[in-house]
Amino acid sequence: GWGMRLALGALALLVFCTDAFSREPRSSGVSGRARSRGPRLPGGRPWGSAMLKNSVSEESGPQSEDPEVAQGLQHIYSEDDTGGASAPQESPLVSVLKYQPPGQEAALFSFGNNHTMFLAYLRYTLAEQSPEQTIPCDEVLNASILELSINVSDPDVQQTFKQSWRDGRLLAMTKDPFEVLHGSLSFDDRLQGFTRRMCQYLCRTTPAVQSRLLQWLSPQWSPGANDGVQFEDLFFKASLTREEALQRLRVFMGWFKREYPYYYDNCMACGNARNNTFLGYVSPSAAERQYRAGRVELYLCSSCHTVSRFPRYNDVVKVLSETKRGRCGEYSVAALALLDSLGYETRWIVDWADHLWTEVRVDGEWIHLDPCEAAVDEPLLYESWGKNQTYIFAFTSLNVVDVTGDYTSNVTAAMQRREIN
Ligand SMILES: [Zn+2]
Repeated sequence: GWGMRLALGALALLVFCTDAFSREPRSSGVSGRARSRGPRLPGGRPWGSAMLKNSVSEESGPQSEDPEVAQGLQHIYSEDDTGGASAPQESPLVSVLKYQPPGQEAALFSFGNNHTMFLAYLRYTLAEQSPEQTIPCDEVLNASILELSINVSDPDVQQTFKQSWRDGRLLAMTKDPFEVLHGSLSFDDRLQGFTRRMCQYLCRTTPAVQSRLLQWLSPQWSPGANDGVQFEDLFFKASLTREEALQRLRVFMGWFKREYPYYYDNCMACGNARNNTFLGYVSPSAAERQYRAGRVELYLCSSCHTVSRFPRYNDVVKVLSETKRGRCGEYSVAALALLDSLGYETRWIVDWADHLWTEVRVDGEWIHLDPCEAAVDEPLLYESWGKNQTYIFAFTSLNVVDVTGDYTSNVTAAMQRREIN
């Protein structure tokens, strides 16, 4: 079936990736499920075939560092699911906002936005692109904004918007900027996107990078501020009891959460954190692409009215040692890199219901670790949040495993939601 083909495809990507960089494959047992809190998923396939039609969520959509993928230019269709990512058939007309700067050929666009937010984006972008020019007042700008209906199935129209995104002239309201052109990402697209992201992480987190991370961590680790736990105690030791190991991991996750608070939308100019407005997504600048940002979120400050950029970097060293600004997307991968460097066997966990975290293997058992929550071994945490769980996957260098049953007390309900979605 297609599920098996997809699994093999994912595996091939990972094997290619690890071979290319001569990394040792992880030790065996990555598909093991030592925990027995939830019932096993029935059926021979590692995941169900239900498609998820809902739009890409804030945290857990593919956040590829490959600009082609991030821009939605590369789409993977499976034989069984050719309709999943194609343009909507019934209503190909979509409303866009357009501003044509006087005397310039290139226009600026917005998908699915209102005039007020597009206006704020225009003021910000025009000033960024040419600081010396005089920007017209709001009334003049507003009068120049056109509302157009575009036919999203027209290849020329698609080309125009893809070029606008590349040039930094498009404000999109969805994480996949071209969702209005081709519809929501299919199950296949999302799984492939996360697999690719894991592959890129593995390829880039080389032994040299791990060594740099440890050299950076060592001098700033303070036993006094961390329950007396020494830096050397952070490394994986097979001789520890389960409870000893978990106690050290709790201290480590506590440190992580203090060092790396969850970023919401704080203004980077004045620090204001109240009533700021999300304007949309834009493509990263050349400098931001250097650290493999796939997209940038813009926030308008309600106090000083400046626009703050939040580039979604995929470079763990940049996030850990410099920006210290992220959400569970950045932090799950950053924690993965640190735990890998400390000698743990790890998995990267992606919840389709908008969250990401990590696991480490202790005494043959996969242990849940959430760097955003400083949570250790609390797998039913998300159920208690009221998350509508559907699919939860564990990614390693060797495979992708459905671990939904480890994180819910009612796996049947999760499987039923797969059909509804
Ligand atoms: Zn501000």
